[in-house]
Amino acid sequence: MDQDHFKQILLDMKEEVSGRINSIDRDIRHEGMSADWAEQASERENDEVLESLGNSSEQELEMIKFALLRIEDGSYFHCDKCGEEIPPARLELLPFTAYCVNCAEKIEA
Ligand SMILES: [Zn+2]
Repeated sequence: MDQDHFKQILLDMKEEVSGRINSIDRDIRHEGMSADWAEQASERENDEVLESLGNSSEQELEMIKFALLRIEDGSYFHCDKCGEEIPPARLELLPFTAYCVNCAEKIEA
């Protein structure tokens, strides 16, 4: 199995997600904030959306980092829970997953 292929996908994802987190942070800090009250209220609402988006991006980043660690220690193609092989087709779809389908279902349930 081609580990480097998945490593490259994960590195690209990591870069993309990191970039997304940075731009969300910039938006929340409101560089060039407006003085208009109505606009500020809607910006606050917007902040909540951005924050939850930021949180899920942070989570995604953690999963990507974990997957990269798993590539380094050679466990990437095996489920972190039961040790079964994770089918490459699943990894193509979810390159940062650490679990086989069965375990992922149990965890989510
Ligand atoms: Zn498993």
